[in-house]
Amino acid sequence: MIATATGDGYTIVENASLQGRNTFRVPARAAMLVDVRKPAALAELSGYAMLKSAPLLVLGEGSNILFTRDWPGVVLSIAAHAIDVLEDEGRHVRVHAEAGANWNDFVHWSLARGFAGLENLVLIPGTVGAAPIQNIGAYGVEVGEFIAGVEAWDLVEARRVRIEGPDCGFGYRDSRFKREAGRHVVTAVEFVLPRVREPRTDYAGVREELAALGVVDVPRPAEVAEAISRLRMRKLPNPALIGNAGSFFKNPLVASTLADALQREHAALPAWPAGNGQSKLSAAWLIEACGFKGHREGDAGVSDRHALVLVNHGDATGAQLWALAQRVRDGVHARFGVELEPEPIVL
Ligand SMILES: Cc1cc2nc3c(=O)[nH]c(=O)nc-3n(C[C@H](O)[C@H](O)[C@H](O)COP(=O)(O)OP(=O)(O)OC[C@H]3O[C@@H](n4cnc5c(N)ncnc54)[C@H](O)[C@@H]3O)c2cc1C
Repeated sequence: MIATATGDGYTIVENASLQGRNTFRVPARAAMLVDVRKPAALAELSGYAMLKSAPLLVLGEGSNILFTRDWPGVVLSIAAHAIDVLEDEGRHVRVHAEAGANWNDFVHWSLARGFAGLENLVLIPGTVGAAPIQNIGAYGVEVGEFIAGVEAWDLVEARRVRIEGPDCGFGYRDSRFKREAGRHVVTAVEFVLPRVREPRTDYAGVREELAALGVVDVPRPAEVAEAISRLRMRKLPNPALIGNAGSFFKNPLVASTLADALQREHAALPAWPAGNGQSKLSAAWLIEACGFKGHREGDAGVSDRHALVLVNHGDATGAQLWALAQRVRDGVHARFGVELEPEPIVL
């Protein structure tokens, strides 16, 4: 791709391919792609007519996005990736990470310095800047717990803002940033990480994996990370080898009365109490029970390793993957009366 304009801290390319910028590896183009190396450049860029008027999409590593068509406006990507310790209070540290830092690298950076908290979130693809958007979570931990504040460019007010952790509206795979999509360009995240923390190892398979690693005492954060990395590598298809965006559906929240009725009929259906008279059901179980695991329509498929993951076997388009997702959703609804919601952003 040839840069059509460069400025202090940014590069603009017109009619840019996004195929290498989404982990489904589906073809899509952006009318304009802006790579921002210095977040300060956002002030200058926001004055450009194109950025003001065209639909804007902020893109990280594209590991939670399905492009079903070209993007008619501006795709903006933050490349700045510095990580700094702001303050060390002994028991806790405050860490500042720019949005373009790779999430898994950041987790390993924190573990190497003896900071705890992020070990259960190891090996989640994507950037630091995207982590607060859907409040990434895995193995019983959500990132929102460790976020002190989010720095962003507010596109509505055209100014830099800092949103404190409690104001980020974190929920299950959800946040204020996701609900107000298109308003904030996250430029950096500030974390508070403890030095010592009770490890969370009660999630399925973690204790067994630690035992297999020979860890018999209270595990250190790096050991928990190692156990979880091994579990994830076994369970989830690697996007470097086969295009995917991780779990394609959220575990559905339903009324506990419906969950109880379904469990009476299907004793093996996993369900967890979720408060307020609601229960969370295993979307993977529902999909597998409908016979979709390993199902394939051309190059669009459901992984044979994990029923929640849609995969691109080669040349599937986003539209083909989305058509398959809708068939899975309709199948689950017809059989169980449960509505599945996609986890990635579908464009
Ligand atoms: C194999 C695999 C496993 C996965 N496992 C998990 C998991 O265990 N838990 C989990 O929670 N997720 C998981 N995911 C999903 C994904 O890794 C996360 O959602 C990740 O945070 C997305 O990061 P990204 O940089 O790729 O964001 P993108 O996919 O590029 O963008 C995702 C969303 O965030 C927005 N966004 C991105 N960067 C910014 C920014 N700087 N400012 C404002 N908005 C922004 C985008 O506009 C979009 O709405 C998995 C994905 C894959 C492929």
